[in-house]
Amino acid sequence: MLDYQLQDKWENGVGGLQSPINLQPEIVSNDEDLVRLVFQQPLIGKIIENSNNSFRIIGSGSIVINQVIFKFQELHFHLPSEHLIDNHQFKMEWHLVFKNEQGQTLVIARLVKLGEANVVYQQIWDAYQVNSSEIPAIDLTSIIKVDDSCYHYQGSLTTPPLTQNVSWYIDIDPLTVSQSQLQKYHEVFATPNNRKVQPLKNRCVQFGIM
Ligand SMILES: [Zn+2]
Repeated sequence: MLDYQLQDKWENGVGGLQSPINLQPEIVSNDEDLVRLVFQQPLIGKIIENSNNSFRIIGSGSIVINQVIFKFQELHFHLPSEHLIDNHQFKMEWHLVFKNEQGQTLVIARLVKLGEANVVYQQIWDAYQVNSSEIPAIDLTSIIKVDDSCYHYQGSLTTPPLTQNVSWYIDIDPLTVSQSQLQKYHEVFATPNNRKVQPLKNRCVQFGIM
């Protein structure tokens, strides 16, 4: 099981350009044409897989970002958020993980605050089972919102093996979940499960539209 209390000791033999980071206005450069995101096939969750005292929803579907096709791999959750926006930490962070044909990883992150219940999140918990299993198809496409503003930078996976060259897109507009929806996660899994922010070093962060 991944121990977040011992995260400073996680083996990181891959270098120093890591994730998550604190996204501060002064480190950001504007890029009007940052992303041209198009859905190629809807993102459909099909299997719930329990691992490391958390769970993921494995699925299918694809997006095209700047003319490169990325296939949807999985959705998983961190509580509280891993990325900060100007030092602000959110209640949750959802990671939609994609890979292209060359094996490069791209993650679209959604930050989450308390508010109205989230319909897709509810569908996921209604389908949740302790043992990994196939579930009725859940359409996850609406989690990503084309035309939202986002931050983009190059970082890493936030769990071992902490592999770098991960392309991050963090939507600045938070989703909401209700208090009881948030509580559900805390009841089932150990939290916190967020990696602490990592040094930016000399990376640039871009700001633009999805
Ligand atoms: Zn993650």
